Amino acid sequence: MAHADLEWNENGQPVSTAFDDIYFSTTCGIEETRHVFINGNRLPERFSALNQNECFTLAETGFGTGLNFLCAWACFEKEAPESARLHYISTEKHPLAREDLQQALSIWPELASYSKQLTACYIPAVEGHQHFSLDGGRIKLTLCMGDTLSLLPDLEGQVDAWILDGFSPAKNPEMWQPGLFSAMARKSHLNTTYATFTAARIVRDGLIQAGFSVEKGSGFGLKREMINGKLIHKPDDQTIRPLWYQGTTQPSSGMDEKTRSAIIVGGGLAGCNTARALAERGWKITLLEQHNALAMEASGNPQGILYTKLSANQTPLSRFIAQGYLYSISLLNTYARQQPDLWQQSGVIQLAINEKVRTRHLELARHFPEDFLSFLSREELSERAGIPLEHEGIYFPHAGWVDPANFCKALAKHDNINVVANARLQSLKKDENGWTLTLQSEDNIQTMQSRDVIITCAKASTQLPPLSYIPLKNIRGQITEISSTDKSSLLKTTVCGKGYAAPAIKGRHTIGATFDFQSDSAEVLEKDHEQNLSMQETCAPEIYKALGGAQAHILGGRASFRCTTPDYMPAVGAIVDQACFQEDFAMLRKNMKHRFTQPPKYLKGLYINAGHGSRGLITAPLCGELLAAQMNGECSPVTSDLLDHLNPTRFLVRAMSRNKT
Ligand SMILES: Cc1cc2nc3c(=O)[nH]c(=O)nc-3n(C[C@H](O)[C@H](O)[C@H](O)COP(=O)(O)OP(=O)(O)OC[C@H]3O[C@@H](n4cnc5c(N)ncnc54)[C@H](O)[C@@H]3O)c2cc1C
Repeated sequence: MAHADLEWNENGQPVSTAFDDIYFSTTCGIEETRHVFINGNRLPERFSALNQNECFTLAETGFGTGLNFLCAWACFEKEAPESARLHYISTEKHPLAREDLQQALSIWPELASYSKQLTACYIPAVEGHQHFSLDGGRIKLTLCMGDTLSLLPDLEGQVDAWILDGFSPAKNPEMWQPGLFSAMARKSHLNTTYATFTAARIVRDGLIQAGFSVEKGSGFGLKREMINGKLIHKPDDQTIRPLWYQGTTQPSSGMDEKTRSAIIVGGGLAGCNTARALAERGWKITLLEQHNALAMEASGNPQGILYTKLSANQTPLSRFIAQGYLYSISLLNTYARQQPDLWQQSGVIQLAINEKVRTRHLELARHFPEDFLSFLSREELSERAGIPLEHEGIYFPHAGWVDPANFCKALAKHDNINVVANARLQSLKKDENGWTLTLQSEDNIQTMQSRDVIITCAKASTQLPPLSYIPLKNIRGQITEISSTDKSSLLKTTVCGKGYAAPAIKGRHTIGATFDFQSDSAEVLEKDHEQNLSMQETCAPEIYKALGGAQAHILGGRASFRCTTPDYMPAVGAIVDQACFQEDFAMLRKNMKHRFTQPPKYLKGLYINAGHGSRGLITAPLCGELLAAQMNGECSPVTSDLLDHLNPTRFLVRAMSRNKT
């Protein structure tokens, strides 16, 4: 995705070359934002009236330099109760490059503490949504990169206030179309407000036609007028999403904010991320884990890599991975402020180990901006790695390796999360009060009850009858830990070829990892150590030699299971009642175009987050976040089409639609 072309005028103002217009006035940009958008939407009083844990969703057209966002954030911090949260959603077709954003925002020293956090995670690289966690999770930013008119319909959820910004209707007529106003109306409720700097006729008419009231107010500075108003006529729901995926976004328990609680079963990356995302929304979480500590299975390797296998074709999987990757980086950086050893943002190299991979890498480099990934020569990669490499390839400067187990522990360290170890879920039963869980804890059986239960047990999730239709599969993998040498300590960045080698930490490198589709044994095998070393020998011979070659000192290893789905997308969301679904949607067997009239019946309060395959570090955080948003009835951090691709019901739909007998 191309960055905005900018020029800086004699006053230091950023000017868009494409729209021949300034982004803001250097003398009074902040005052203008406050007058038009903040006060025009009555944000100070609405923020201060928020309930504990309530989330306010503010959406904007035209992110530009992010000035409106930072002003809204500052206002929120000043006015809103401490536990309230702001979800800021903004569209942008021509995102500024990071350096330009940094330079533009440096004009506002009073916003420096906010802009520093924004620029630290801002990597505008992928079309669609990019979600960021800021201010310890209190502020969420979803940047919708691309054309506003095509992105807004894909927004899942409702907005409380709109900031209608962007270049003026005269300079940017493409955006100010009836489609913009009708999309806004569909994503609004009857108290949703908007404010805009322009009182142009086309805007007023469009808003009125879409169901908004229009009031004129005095404009800022030399501008005579501005307008604001609210939705007064809710349009008919014209959603085009398949009905069988609908009905998932709803506040699930119906209890007030103070008493929301849930049980999460499974203390790996999926469980801990979901727990944290809900805890930050004020939920009291009991996190059950069968072992005596968190992250003892797949999430327990000493070093896990932020590894993204992308496609230039923008497949749903690739879009999801890119978004998950960026979200994980913003989240990890937030945690690393308290715990710097949680991850090392030391970059990741993917070697072009054959012509096919090289072609894909070159396509990716054409598709993504350089600060996201770049295709580099052998010499350039060798310099970044600190050890000579034999191949060209792509370099991800913002990636790195994570200590997954400590990440899990950091996530679970929250006043609202109670970790219960040695608690193995045996069965789950639904009754009128919610769910009864039977647990085996050490040597006794006990029960627990909860209205909301989230299963994050990886493959073991499907042992529970309501989840048995989800086709989760285990793939065994083993990593090898190798003692570092003087030479191998020079490795500065993770190098991935067939396997991967991570930089040394406390005298140990992790190299990995094997793939075994047949075995269900978690025993650490000598032959798998050999295979891990042999992958280094083939793809990165100098790293292999630096590790000691055939004499490498193996310190140990771990074998565990990647839990995957047939389409490699995780299974995340609410669980339908399978029997009812198969009856109510029986026509799917004959005709996918059949007009159904009712959304599915859900097993109220039951959710899953599993199937993270070999990249849980980049999918589990975003999935935890989107599940929490879904359970809270908030706008989703991902587009509605991606939600459908993650929806566990897809497996029932596919199985039924294939059976066209
Ligand atoms: C060898 C290997 C290398 C990998 N390398 C990487 C990498 O470099 N980068 C990356 O992003 N990903 C990597 N992965 C994948 C990543 O580890 C997983 O995607 C991720 O850990 C999945 O997290 P999870 O929470 O879904 O599963 P898990 O971590 O397996 O967690 C599930 C938890 O549920 C618990 N549980 C199960 N049943 C019950 C029950 N009945 N009651 C209570 N608790 C229960 C388990 O004990 C476990 O703690 C790797 C995986 C393997 C195997």
